[in-house]
Amino acid sequence: MAVEPLIFELSQPERRAVGFPEPDVPETPLPAGLRRDGLDWPEVGELDVIRHYTRLSQKNHAIDINIYPLGSCTMKYNPKINEAVARYPGFAEIHPYQDPSTVQGALELMCELQAMLAEISGFADVTLQPAAGAHGELTGVLIIRAYHRDQGATGRTKILVPDSAHGTNPATATMAGFDVVTIPSDRRGNVDLEKLRALVGSDTAGLMITNPNTLGLWDEHIEEIVDLVHAAGGLVYNDGANFNAILGVARPADLGIDVMHFNLHKTFSTPHGGGGPGSGPVGVRADLAEYLPGPRIREVNETGISRYEWFQPARSIGRVHSFHGNFGMHVRAYCYIRMHGAAGLRQVSEDAVLNANYLRVGLQERYDLPYDRTCMHEVVFSGNRQKANGVRTLDIAKRLLDFGVHPPTVYFPLIVPEAMMIEPTETESKETLDYFIAAMREIADEAEHSPEIVTGAPHRTEFKRLDEVSANRHPNLRWLPPVEASSRAKEAAAAD
Ligand SMILES: *Cc1c(COP(=O)(O)O)cnc(C)c1O
Repeated sequence: MAVEPLIFELSQPERRAVGFPEPDVPETPLPAGLRRDGLDWPEVGELDVIRHYTRLSQKNHAIDINIYPLGSCTMKYNPKINEAVARYPGFAEIHPYQDPSTVQGALELMCELQAMLAEISGFADVTLQPAAGAHGELTGVLIIRAYHRDQGATGRTKILVPDSAHGTNPATATMAGFDVVTIPSDRRGNVDLEKLRALVGSDTAGLMITNPNTLGLWDEHIEEIVDLVHAAGGLVYNDGANFNAILGVARPADLGIDVMHFNLHKTFSTPHGGGGPGSGPVGVRADLAEYLPGPRIREVNETGISRYEWFQPARSIGRVHSFHGNFGMHVRAYCYIRMHGAAGLRQVSEDAVLNANYLRVGLQERYDLPYDRTCMHEVVFSGNRQKANGVRTLDIAKRLLDFGVHPPTVYFPLIVPEAMMIEPTETESKETLDYFIAAMREIADEAEHSPEIVTGAPHRTEFKRLDEVSANRHPNLRWLPPVEASSRAKEAAAAD
């Protein structure tokens, strides 16, 4: 084609997408200091803007396009009704500085969501303040720290973390000022009980366990693990990001867990990716509730009519988020839970586990399965067999893009070489799962007979392989006026 398609820089002087009426009030210039002149903004018409963003969206992958089996991330379908409800003016247009008497409906929703999360998990109380899973972890571990401090237990300086835990767990424990002690896994992918017995003691503040763990496996000794830590005076934190596997089937608090975070953006279908906003509520056993971040919401009923008010818990660790957390996410999660009901939530988990096991069985002849057990909501393969032909897991991931499929999580968990962590979620149909299996099998064939197809992938995407070093060292994440962009690029090149 001799004609270049219109791609990115579309600006034309004086082009406008909107027209304003003549002002009917006197013009008042912005005060000096608030005003900048010479902003080099793109000048485009309305249709140009629409096409620009639509084109960009088509270069990306999304759950609304095809399966997105990114293990550990639970990229499930976000029902559109959640979005409609979150946009109700009574939810979207309120302000946290409003007097509580004017936002009683919003407060009631938060109070009910806390109660529903408590019921599903078995915990006595829940805070909605944290903005993400890792943020919930920090909140939970700060609560554990405050609890030990109040017990006068200053010698409890260590947090035990199994090597099958999510990477955020040791990072959180370190941020909260603890020393991390790693516990290895046994051959079935459970926490090694002998090693745990040897390492738990009077210096243990707690254990942070991810269960189901990052191998997609339920720890077969979870109750023994909890007992061992409790017997030594420690508390048990459960990373609840994998809660999608056990809704309505097991309640973490019933297993003796003391503190857990939820990922509303994984389990309860609030959207994620691209950095948020997320929501990571934390549940605690009864005697830890007074440590939860404040202000907290409560229902009062003196007159026969409920009202909702804020209060500060006695020993609160303080705020962990401005205002009251990401309220729009609370609305979406509430909608999802109410829409499914108790039986529906259990069905979510049963289908998530069924789908993952369907993939496990469909692929285990062609890919190494390091832990050959019934899995939970995700399954971890190794690309070791393909690596023998010079095809790495990264190549397999890139080749999947040619099939219009988002790759699984790769090279995580770290304890599996050439790991591929696949989480189909409950919302995928049998036909989609069969398509994914067929694509993966075809890639396994290619890896054997014509590996260069895989190592050269992707072939059909808009962009081929990125130069990952430059992408990391000089990330180009936002639009700059062309002049500025080219001078930045020159600086970056000079710096290399
Ligand atoms: C996603 C995830 C986290 C971190 O949650 P964020 O919301 O991304 O901070 C922690 N643990 C596990 C097991 C996860 O999958």
